[in-house]
Amino acid sequence: MQPKGLSAKTVLADLKKIHNMDQQYANGRILCSMCTTPHPLAKKAYQMFFESNLGDSGLFPGSTQIEKEVVHELATLLQGENAAGFVVSGGTEANLMALLAARNIAKIDRPEVVLPKSAHFSFTKICNLLSLKPVYSRVDSSFRVDTLDVEKCISKNTVAIVGTAGTAELGAIDPIDKLSEIAIRYNVYLHVDAAFGGLIIPFLPNPKPTFNFSLKGVESITVDPHKMGMAAIPAGGILFKNAKTLDFIKAETPYLTDKVQYTLVGTRTGAAAASAWAIFKALGMEGFHKNAGTCMKNTKMLADGVEKAGFKIVVEPTLNIVAFRSRNTKGLSESLMAKGWFVSYVPRYDCIRVVVMPHVKSKHIGEFLRDLVEIEKGKKLI
Ligand code: PLP
Repeated sequence: MQPKGLSAKTVLADLKKIHNMDQQYANGRILCSMCTTPHPLAKKAYQMFFESNLGDSGLFPGSTQIEKEVVHELATLLQGENAAGFVVSGGTEANLMALLAARNIAKIDRPEVVLPKSAHFSFTKICNLLSLKPVYSRVDSSFRVDTLDVEKCISKNTVAIVGTAGTAELGAIDPIDKLSEIAIRYNVYLHVDAAFGGLIIPFLPNPKPTFNFSLKGVESITVDPHKMGMAAIPAGGILFKNAKTLDFIKAETPYLTDKVQYTLVGTRTGAAAASAWAIFKALGMEGFHKNAGTCMKNTKMLADGVEKAGFKIVVEPTLNIVAFRSRNTKGLSESLMAKGWFVSYVPRYDCIRVVVMPHVKSKHIGEFLRDLVEIEKGKKLI
């Protein structure tokens, strides 16, 4: 730190320069992110609740009410009217809280968790932190977990099974209804990671897969407003079907206005929760349906264009993610990056993955397809 402070003008000018180094969602070039430009109201709401700390709720009863209402909205959407939960830092913390609860409920010496091979990498961290042994089950040709294999993976040490409603890489939705039946049959905790899918699947046209609390075996669901909910980061969400489950993850807080805390993060902003609240109110079900419809329409436009250009789609998109290959997929991804398109290359499926978030408009897809065709025609692979 320098000895004397700088003027606000200088600080802001420096910050602006640095901020310009960041990519902006609005330019439509970020095709690899599951986050997006927050809804315009999110910014206003965030600023309003800028100082609040949900980790000391006695000081911030308004923010606490906001969090409760966001949780209630999410719970109602996922048919868990009595569910309890929190707005947390993201899908990682939400998944961690779920598996912490499952482990503590089971109280087993060498706890194991059955995960689809396609599970998000956050579970690797979580298994490390909680000393859980991950047991991976196979996925089928559509990249959904093979439920027969899940059954084979269950042992006397299994404390939980996990299913994903919208995998990060391909947007696949595991057969949560079948996992729910297995969970009931084996009397094991089922957690659903719907960090990405939770705020788009309910808004897809019927018939749509069921992944929510209407399935008796589902004990908890991760659903992140800062992904398809267009809220400001950090707005993850965790819901527990039964409020009593919270007893298994509580910690006493001796000097705060609260007597106990349940989240991993202690001091946590109420601003992100307020941004989610504002969006839910402003959009309503109608707005979310419209958003999902537009994202899926653009996804189809991209998938059709990619196929027409001669590339191979890895799997028909279920959600707003398109994954495709060429003869030299990695080279193609590098050429696209060189042209300013931020795409992800996924080594385990040898594919390029594009997430068609709300900031990716049809005009951006048109430009992307033109560049893709040009690269392929000129074989300008770098
Ligand atoms: N689960 C899924 C399915 C995800 O897609 C992600 C992130 O993309 C996560 C968990 C982790 O979420 P976060 O990065 O908000 O911690």
